[in-house]
Amino acid sequence: MKTQIMLDLETLGTLPGSVLVAIGAVKFDGEKITDEFYVRIDAASCAKLGLQMDTETVLWWLQQADGPRLEITKPAVGLAEALYNFSAWVGDDEAEMWGNGAAFDNVLLAGAYRAAGQKPPWEFWHDRCYRTMKNLYPQVTMQREGVHHHALDDARAQARHLMAIFRRAKFAPVEQLVKTLADVSGYLSAMRTDLRKIDEHGETWALQTLRYAEGAKEYTDKAYKILDAHDELSAAGG
Ligand SMILES: [Mg+2]
Repeated sequence: MKTQIMLDLETLGTLPGSVLVAIGAVKFDGEKITDEFYVRIDAASCAKLGLQMDTETVLWWLQQADGPRLEITKPAVGLAEALYNFSAWVGDDEAEMWGNGAAFDNVLLAGAYRAAGQKPPWEFWHDRCYRTMKNLYPQVTMQREGVHHHALDDARAQARHLMAIFRRAKFAPVEQLVKTLADVSGYLSAMRTDLRKIDEHGETWALQTLRYAEGAKEYTDKAYKILDAHDELSAAGG
């Protein structure tokens, strides 16, 4: 498995070429977060390199809670230094970069690298979209911890959520089996009703078929229990 990185930016715009004010990121494997990165960026240093701010995003920040809003006004480093440090943290191994949206974190960060005349520390074919994954698995909910809109807290929460989605995805064939068994069970239950009617007329084969039907029901219940246990495990791990 390549190095997996979840990225979260705080920005003063939503388009490529926007000012960045913080980069939060975590490395993770299939089960846990293994490393963390956080840097606050001086907005003026971004503007000097030609990055833009948009009014709507600035107004949005003004409406946020004190915690995340004041966080982005604390002492910060220049964009070039922040990007250099991020590249050093990513390292030389190939990394898959997860962002929240196909056109957000990764694209804005790559834009900042371009503005600073530096090369992004990941290849464009290793761009990965967490927003797509969470939409494919809406049944796996995010357990939010920390401060919402603090780049590092967001990156941690998103990475944990994505790992829970991976576990769920692994379990998908079993879920399919449970659904199939549930269909079979429904069918057999209708059959059972009909067979009871026949049995009233003394047909012994009907009794035998009934026993098969009860067996199928028992296996379906077992499969449901497996699925429930997995859900509990995912929730605990997520
Ligand atoms: Mg964020």
